Amino acid sequence: MRWQLARLVDAHPETATARTLTLELDSWPGALPGQHVDLRLTAEDGYSTQRSYSLAEVGDSGRVRLTIQRLADGEVSPFLADELAIGDEIELRGPVGGWFVWDPADTDPVLLVAGGSGVVPLMAMLRARRSSDSKAPFRLVYSVRQQADVYYAEELGEIAATGRDVETVIVYSRVAPPGIARSAQRVMAADLQAPGWEAGNGPRCYVCGSTGFVESVTQALVHLGHDPQRIRTERFGPSGG
Ligand SMILES: Cc1cc2nc3c(=O)[nH]c(=O)nc-3n(C[C@H](O)[C@H](O)[C@H](O)COP(=O)(O)OP(=O)(O)OC[C@H]3O[C@@H](n4cnc5c(N)ncnc54)[C@H](O)[C@@H]3O)c2cc1C
Repeated sequence: MRWQLARLVDAHPETATARTLTLELDSWPGALPGQHVDLRLTAEDGYSTQRSYSLAEVGDSGRVRLTIQRLADGEVSPFLADELAIGDEIELRGPVGGWFVWDPADTDPVLLVAGGSGVVPLMAMLRARRSSDSKAPFRLVYSVRQQADVYYAEELGEIAATGRDVETVIVYSRVAPPGIARSAQRVMAADLQAPGWEAGNGPRCYVCGSTGFVESVTQALVHLGHDPQRIRTERFGPSGG
């Protein structure tokens, strides 16, 4: 896979701590929802570092869309979230990954479980479902600390309101908005259960977020009887984590 230059053509804040970037490439083969790209930054003294970012949307338009969560003490994410300017170029290679992907031709039910920025590749799956006219039932359980941290809030609301057989549930881990009966807490087994979404119905499960989030959700899913072979995970933690 070769590195190529990608140019930033659009950027907008997703939340106070995250920014969605649209990058344009000369050559892009298209991708499957769930795949990611690698970005490489090289300093004037030759020091170079790279990070992976999930595709928030897939298509073969020659543009890729990413959403970057700024980590205050991070080396790369503050630059991408705050400094990369329209017209700037950055090295990119991809698409990468063949396991954590959803095939729009697959009709099995799909249970998506996201923690924080882990929603990015799962949003690519929801968007691909819509653009492919797939009828596969989808349920997204999306854990955020508080309401202001929800990515793609408007579009998720629209998907929930108009999508047939698509359900989106936002759960709050720190502060629940007024009117929400569930007290703020981490994703629990009860959040992963819903009529029609029992393990016996055999949904494919995609879990994405920090290493700790992915491990605790996977354990809960297995405890509920989901077949570990049908649980696919992506960890966003530090490399090796
Ligand atoms: C396949 C894959 C896809 C990814 N997709 C996305 C994406 O769509 N959006 C996105 O924002 N990030 C994504 N990430 C995470 C991303 O690659 C970087 O790890 C992240 O941006 C932090 O990089 P940094 O250089 O700012 O922080 P670093 O300088 O690498 O780390 C700074 C500090 O934060 C800790 N840390 C590193 N990464 C994380 C993390 N993800 N969560 C919490 N603490 C962390 C480190 O231990 C360290 O203490 C993805 C990671 C993988 C492996």
